[in-house]
Amino acid sequence: MAGIVVVFDFDKTIIDLDSDNWVVDELGATDLFNQLLPTMPWNSLMDRMMTELHAQGKTIDDIVEVLKRAPIHPDVVPAIRAAHALGCDLRIVSDANMFFIETILDHLGIRECFSEINTNPGYVDEEGRLRIFPIHDFQKSSHGCNLCPPNMCKGLVMERIQASLMSEGKKKKFIYLGDGSGDYCPSLKLGEGDFLMPRKNFPLWDLISQNPLVIKAEIHEWSDGEELARILLNLIKTISMAENAQLLSPQNMGVPVYEALPSPTPKPAMVAN
Ligand SMILES: [Mg+2]
Ligand SMILES: [Zn+2]
Repeated sequence: MAGIVVVFDFDKTIIDLDSDNWVVDELGATDLFNQLLPTMPWNSLMDRMMTELHAQGKTIDDIVEVLKRAPIHPDVVPAIRAAHALGCDLRIVSDANMFFIETILDHLGIRECFSEINTNPGYVDEEGRLRIFPIHDFQKSSHGCNLCPPNMCKGLVMERIQASLMSEGKKKKFIYLGDGSGDYCPSLKLGEGDFLMPRKNFPLWDLISQNPLVIKAEIHEWSDGEELARILLNLIKTISMAENAQLLSPQNMGVPVYEALPSPTPKPAMVAN
């Protein structure tokens, strides 16, 4: 089943909450975060928060320990492993950061299930401080999409993935899973034959509900990890059964269509009265 690409958002999709909020809250910096939020973009604020936490004596180990406790529904990891084992190409497109995501995926033992993680760079500097940077350097230039935050347009990431697979001559079906308003732009890039799995009653689902006709993909909503797992694996099964049926169709087996089909009943001649 080489034909399916599953693109996951991370926060509130793979894990059950927002990793940025989780780290800030668990390390006791919520008030400062809320105070500074109106003054700068979210992504820049996360870098600032990491500096503040470092100054307060919080270490990388403290952050890692918090990330390892991030809540995740018990059905999600098995679903990711199953989708990977079935041959799907799994990718992440997230507005969190590489350090948080890799730490959590390593801890869950599923890092190697993903062929690609598209997110804001995050690394530990020589002073042991976590630095977080925008994936798109908006100080230099705007990405030009007014649906998305300045540091990341997930729609542009989707277009790059679609274009690179296209240039390899691979016809793929996409399944996109997400919850947030940042997942709306990439949802608009999905085509007919693709699938969109928005989390029910979350901002992406609200945006789609306002005007479902702009979405070309088939929509399958989910509420929690149990539904995510069941619906995702069902979709993968359905798509691969359809793919196999196509592979076995007369056109693809070199059998002339007229031989493979039952003889058509002759049409009654049109009689003019
Ligand atoms: Mg999310
Ligand atoms: Zn966008």
